[in-house]
This record gives sequence, C-alpha cells and structure tokens, in this order.
Amino acid sequence: MIVEDVLCPFCGCLCDDVKVEVEEGKIVGVKRACRLGSSKILGHERTAAPMVRGDGELVETTYEEAYDRAARILKEAKRPLLYGWCSTVCETAKLGILLAEEVGGVVDSTATVCHGPSIIGIEEKGMAGATLGQIKNRADLIVFWGANPAEAHPRHTGRYSSNARGMFTPEGRGGRKVIVVDVRETRTAKNADKFILIRPGTDYEVLSALRMIVKGKGEIVPETVAGVAKSDLEEAAAMMMAAKFGVVLIGLGLTHSRGRYKNVDNALSLVADLNGFTKFVVMAMRGHYNVAGFGQVCAWSTGFPMAVDLSRGAPYFNPGETAACDLLARKEADALMVVAADPASNFPRATVEAMAEIPVIQIDPFPNPTTLLADVVIPTAVCGIEAEGTAYRMDGLSLRMKKVVDSPYPTDEEAVREILDRVRRLGDDN
Ligand code: SF4
Repeated sequence: MIVEDVLCPFCGCLCDDVKVEVEEGKIVGVKRACRLGSSKILGHERTAAPMVRGDGELVETTYEEAYDRAARILKEAKRPLLYGWCSTVCETAKLGILLAEEVGGVVDSTATVCHGPSIIGIEEKGMAGATLGQIKNRADLIVFWGANPAEAHPRHTGRYSSNARGMFTPEGRGGRKVIVVDVRETRTAKNADKFILIRPGTDYEVLSALRMIVKGKGEIVPETVAGVAKSDLEEAAAMMMAAKFGVVLIGLGLTHSRGRYKNVDNALSLVADLNGFTKFVVMAMRGHYNVAGFGQVCAWSTGFPMAVDLSRGAPYFNPGETAACDLLARKEADALMVVAADPASNFPRATVEAMAEIPVIQIDPFPNPTTLLADVVIPTAVCGIEAEGTAYRMDGLSLRMKKVVDSPYPTDEEAVREILDRVRRLGDDN
C-alpha cells in the first residue's frame, strides 16, 4: 500500500508530498523525502520500553510506574523546567504548558538555542512576512543570510525557493537571482549568483552598510566593511532594489553570531527599507519540524513564545533569566522534563553538568545522549508516522500530520496527559 501526501516530520519545511510504502503494517519505502526525512520515516533505533533509574542503572519498568515516578518528581520539585516540544505536535505542547502551570514550572522550547533571537527581533521590529507558496510563486531574488538549506533543509530550494518553478516564476532557477551571505562558502553559496563572504560576527555592520546604500547614503560607507568591498555591497543592494519580489531567508549564522537579536532587528530593518522601493519579505529558516508550532501554542496560551516562567501566578518572560540554559546555568532548576529534544547534545557543557545533578524525565521515541542522564525514560510513538497531530511549517502555516502505521507505544500527547492527570491527583491527595 502507498500512503500519499504524508508530511515529513523532520525539518521546518514540513514537506507534505511524501509517499510512504507500507507492507504488513511496516514502512518499507519512502519516496520524495530527502535523506534526512527518509531516515527518520524509515526509522532507526528505538527505546524498547519505559525505564527508571535504580542503583545508578536504567531498568525496564511499566508505563504506569514511569508515569507515577515522573509525576512525583515534578510535583516535589520547587523549580521544575519542562523543555523541548519542537519535534512533537501542538496537542502535546498544549498539555505540556498546562503541566508546567500545574507544577509552577518554567516551560521552554528548542527555539531558545536556535531561532530565539529571531523571535525577539521580530517582536522588537515587526516583520514583513510571506508564505513559502508566495516565495515559490513570486520571488525573483532570494537572499540566504547565514543559512545553508543545501545541508539543513535539503528540499527547500527545489520546492519553495531558488530552484522552484512557480506560477510567476516558471523558469525556476533561471528566472531568479540568488545572493548568499555567509562566513564560509557553503554548498548553498556555490549555487549563488553573488556570494558575499563576511568575517564571523560582522553581520550587523554589513547589514548597516547595505541599509546606508539602499537609503542613498552610500557616500558614508567606507571602501571595505568587515572585509567586504563596498563595490560588492553596492552590487548586492542594486540587485535587491531591482527585484520585483525579494526575500531574505535568515539562518542560525545570523542569529548566533555577535549581535544576535539585534542582527535580526537590522535584517528586518533592511527589508523594511527595501519595501520603500519594491516588495520584500523575510523568513526565519526554522529547524525542527514543529518549532514554529510550539511558539504558536505557547503564545496563545501564555502570551509569550518560549522561556515562560509559570511559577508566579501570571506568565513571566525574560530570556536571559527564564530560558532553559539560564535556569540550568544558575543551578536553579531542580527537575527537568525533556520532551522530543536532546539538550545533552546541544546545550553548553556547564548546563549539561547541571542536568546530571537533578532528576531528568525523558519522553521521546528515540534514545539519545539525554537518555544517559535520564532517571525516567518514556518511549513514545513517532508523531507524523505513528500518531497524527497538528504542526506549523516555518512560514506559520498549520498542517495536519497523518498517522501512517500503528504503534505499540503511547503518543507524546497520551504520555504528557497521564503525567498531568497524576500530578493533579497528587495535588488533590495533599
Ligand atoms: Fe523532510 Fe525537511 Fe527533507 Fe522536506 S526538506 S523531506 S521536511 S527533512
């Protein structure tokens, strides 16, 4: 049997045209997904059963015991941190936020270590946005700034941006111009019409120089800016101003270099300036397939998109104080629940050391380095393959993910609901 129009549960492109071949309840083939998506859909090593740590070792247990232990850990903690939520569906995120509220905890997502600065920059400046469909059908100039979709979002260029054929862009790559700004010549840069190599940490200066040129103040720009010749910047600015529909696609190279959210603010300001001459939009190249969805759910539930402290009776948001890494670095969090994420692999070392000193609950279909630190491990079904649910694409479009095959595992949503129910019952008993 071939299941058509499956959504790929890997990156923020959320490709919705994948074909999955199923035989006797097992996935045996995947078509149209890239290598990243195919490897997740075809599956790899799973955590076989729930586990709890006893005498230093993880030992298999029942789901009931794992849920009970997780509920007790969260209930007894004074400053629980509930982190992750971006490789699961919105229904899980909604329950996770309720659980954080119930235990007076802090809820944060993987955005905190990826496009968090973009979100703050957008809050500060506002954003001229678009859907991926608009970019595919209309954009004749594409700027990748600190973004390398050839490696991180392999189908982005073919489906939505530089190489895609759209209604008003029937020539595909031949009808579009591509500018890449980055600190090294990436695979994406090799496909560009103009590549601007900048020194690490100089995005803000280069953006400011481009803005000066676009605003007609080019005479105050020096002959080189952060190692880039003024003539190169003038050429790029001319390409941008000559476009009928331009887009800046921003990646972690911009958000994680010196300046962080101020870089994003400046990129958004450049786009606002360009809208004085032509149509220009901007989009963050979101990583995990539903990182945008957690931001949506958290924003409509609490008023804030991530890093929300729910211990005060009213939501409180102050990244730098309330983000996951902040709490762990200060050794303030005394329990951690990780859902569909792997902080042990990508958090700073000191925060991972702090994780090792507190009880950790992991809810995830797959083992990963965080499993090594976990005290309770709850394996779940893979959302979008073994469980349905809602996810938001990188452009903010909500899409319904299918269940393709049955699973012996509970869904993320069921696991979080079980823990929430137990926490509430513990509250009633006290
Ligand atoms: Fe999946 Fe992203 Fe590849 Fe599309 S580009 S198939 S969403 S990993």
